[in-house]
Amino acid sequence: MRFSQPTAARQINRLRVLNLVLAEGQLSRADIARILALNKPSTSEIVEQLLSENLLEEQGKTITSNGRRPTALTLNSTAALVLGVDLGALTTSFSLSDLKGNILRFERLPNPPQPSPKEHGQQIIRTCMKMVKLAKSPVSGIVVSIPGIIGEDQQTLLSHDYWSWKDVPLAKAIEVNTKIPTIMVNNVEAMVVAERWFASEKEHSFFFVNWAEHINAAMVDGTTIKTQGSRFGHLPLASTGLCRCGNIGCLETMASGWALSDKHQGAGVKQLAQSADKQVAEDLRSACQAMAMALIAASSITGCKKIILAGGLSNLDDDYFGIVQSFFKEHAHHQLSHVSIVRSALADKSAMLGSVAVALDRWVFQRTLLETMSELQ
Ligand SMILES: [Zn+2]
Repeated sequence: MRFSQPTAARQINRLRVLNLVLAEGQLSRADIARILALNKPSTSEIVEQLLSENLLEEQGKTITSNGRRPTALTLNSTAALVLGVDLGALTTSFSLSDLKGNILRFERLPNPPQPSPKEHGQQIIRTCMKMVKLAKSPVSGIVVSIPGIIGEDQQTLLSHDYWSWKDVPLAKAIEVNTKIPTIMVNNVEAMVVAERWFASEKEHSFFFVNWAEHINAAMVDGTTIKTQGSRFGHLPLASTGLCRCGNIGCLETMASGWALSDKHQGAGVKQLAQSADKQVAEDLRSACQAMAMALIAASSITGCKKIILAGGLSNLDDDYFGIVQSFFKEHAHHQLSHVSIVRSALADKSAMLGSVAVALDRWVFQRTLLETMSELQ
């Protein structure tokens, strides 16, 4: 009888091998055994399993310096797919992705103003069903990212940040209709996962801001991402300006996409950024200063050493982004002068890739689970 590892340990090592091959691109069985400190029989057993699942494929022989030619293993990136759905402020996007995060099919629906959960929900379900039907490989799972508070079941939206949606079991409904496992995740939390997944952010802790139509933030510490229920966009910074939340002078009244758009006849961020109008330039500068003021408050309280800005407005010209950095340096406590403020490498794709990253993590690679386990050790 062949000695076999206990199931849980084998499952974990299977995930470690899968993540390693994704990270390294191409490895031999001996490389895998050495890097993960596994014995050869266990490694072979796991590799055979992954080959039979079609997740790994053999790529002929690699040539080593001593003349031996071990077989190279690579990830079969289209063996399984995931579907990411992002319910943004203005549109809902659907991204069908392969295992490497390549978007194979993309659709975008405009959101009606204050959409009804029933009608908009049905449209989302129909589009998910269509995307799954068009997929050329099995879809492992679906993730819906949405600004709001998600229930413990990860399938129900308890409350939406801007719409009157309450207790909407949207992920459950998608799962029932598509027969594919589906969860929901807070959109900023998802963007942080994307930052690590696709932009290879290595920093253990940082403050993350989604600077877009609305403004939201997350405090990130290892695998802990705190964002649900925080109200960064509603820090009161001015004495005038009615916010959509009903308060006066919130950060959003000066720096959000909706506020800038209201001031300039409904123009979008991209149009404003390209505008030669002096008033637009003045308002964008004020927006950058307001953002810097809010970041000073955030770093003064959290002690964070790094701030990452994502979303459409983080994508403004370097001149504007420089205002955020210089205003921060000028006005923050001198001990905060080392705080680095950077833009997400994912820029305005951050929201779209958020749900895809969470889906790859949750339904295929389970990297967060592995990291949580290693943090506990
Ligand atoms: Zn407000």
